[in-house]
Amino acid sequence: MSKNCNTSAVGSDELIKLGIEGITATILECKSCPLHENATNKVIIRGSERPKVLFIGEAPGKNEDENGIPFCGRAGKVLDELIDHMALEENEYAMINTVKCRPPNNRKPTQNELRTCRPFLVAQIALLDPDVIILLGNTAEQAFCVSSLKWGEAVITQEGKHLMKLYHPAALLYRRTLMRQQKEMIDKNKKLWQKI
Ligand code: SF4
Repeated sequence: MSKNCNTSAVGSDELIKLGIEGITATILECKSCPLHENATNKVIIRGSERPKVLFIGEAPGKNEDENGIPFCGRAGKVLDELIDHMALEENEYAMINTVKCRPPNNRKPTQNELRTCRPFLVAQIALLDPDVIILLGNTAEQAFCVSSLKWGEAVITQEGKHLMKLYHPAALLYRRTLMRQQKEMIDKNKKLWQKI
């Protein structure tokens, strides 16, 4: 993640010291941006606490807000199909979002909301310590503070992680051509998680 990336006053270093459980407790109490006002549940993580592959989505949707679980709705079914295609075991992946509260009417998070929630994202990535980070869509790329990633082309971060941008699963709903392209991008990169 870029060092030039602006973050809110709450430091990710402090959050990292709290560990996974401490971060979860802090997120549950967080009222740092307006998104908490309409959130039914905070949506924090689904999957392993030691993943090979970490998926970062945009924001919770209606189902996620109701259940407090990332990617548990229709887009989640698409992501599950992709995970099957990647041949990842259940303990090999995790899913988080750029913001932990649902934006009203499923709008994109604002720059300010992304910036305010970013310390949680940074701390989650540091503690989960994945080998491969997959940004699902342009908002995740923005939140990660990189730019100009090419779809499906992996790069190495300063921390030595493999980083790649794929289409957000919601963009693939009912679009089989795009789904085919996504699977081709996955096939091209599968050595990244299969060799680990
Ligand atoms: S989106 Fe993030 S920063 Fe905003 S209230 Fe929810 S947890 Fe806090």
